[in-house]
Amino acid sequence: MRNLPSTLATKRGLGLLGGTFDPVHTGHLCLASAALSAIPLVRVELFPAGEPWQKSRISSGMHRLNMLRIAVEYEPLFRINTSELRRIGPTYTIDTVKNLREEVGPAMPLVLILGIDQWLNLSTWKNWAELTNYVHIAYCRREGTVEKPIPDQQIAWAADKITAPEALTQMPAGRIAQFEMAPHRASATEIRRTISTQPYAQAMKTLDGWLHPGVAQYIRSHGLYGAMRH
Ligand code: ATP
Repeated sequence: MRNLPSTLATKRGLGLLGGTFDPVHTGHLCLASAALSAIPLVRVELFPAGEPWQKSRISSGMHRLNMLRIAVEYEPLFRINTSELRRIGPTYTIDTVKNLREEVGPAMPLVLILGIDQWLNLSTWKNWAELTNYVHIAYCRREGTVEKPIPDQQIAWAADKITAPEALTQMPAGRIAQFEMAPHRASATEIRRTISTQPYAQAMKTLDGWLHPGVAQYIRSHGLYGAMRH
């Protein structure tokens, strides 16, 4: 039997990147790529949130999903998982990871990928301390985030779980790691603000490659974020 190249043979487990993706931008894709480089994952699954309970006034799930599809069409290591969009009621990550763990069984390593803004916010999430019963957590610095202190209870909870990113896939769940990514300033809030306040062509210059060209075109043709007003 032919031997697999060692890098392929040792990759196991799935990365999970949840987000509102309103819209998906290159910061999201760089984060997912950095996770794939730092952690021996087979692929990253992108979970567009159904009803993100900490955000109001978001675009429809259909638009957010269509933009994600355009952005990852030629990215074989990224896959879109629509389970949160199909669930009724507020989207809680704990429900997503419980369901996924049931689907994949007890042995598959699962790694929840977070930007540091979400890591610092973690203790506001529903049943947050139970997340590591189902998945690992890997978080990454985010350019432009003002880093507030981590709550004491989260520090205590994380203390005996910290490991190196490359070690995460040696077990199914329960560990926490920090990994590196080249700083990327993209933010969906900034994209929405720029598109709503500048003529489309100027907004695209200001955003300087933060949007996939097909996503930018989708935003324009559907008049998202006020894009038709100029
Ligand atoms: P918004 O500005 O609407 O809050 P966002 O740009 O933060 O949106 P989300 O869809 O909420 O995007 O983010 C999903 C995940 O991607 C989060 O864990 C977030 O921290 C991370 N993320 C988003 N942009 C970046 C970036 N530029 N660098 C690193 N991580 C990022």
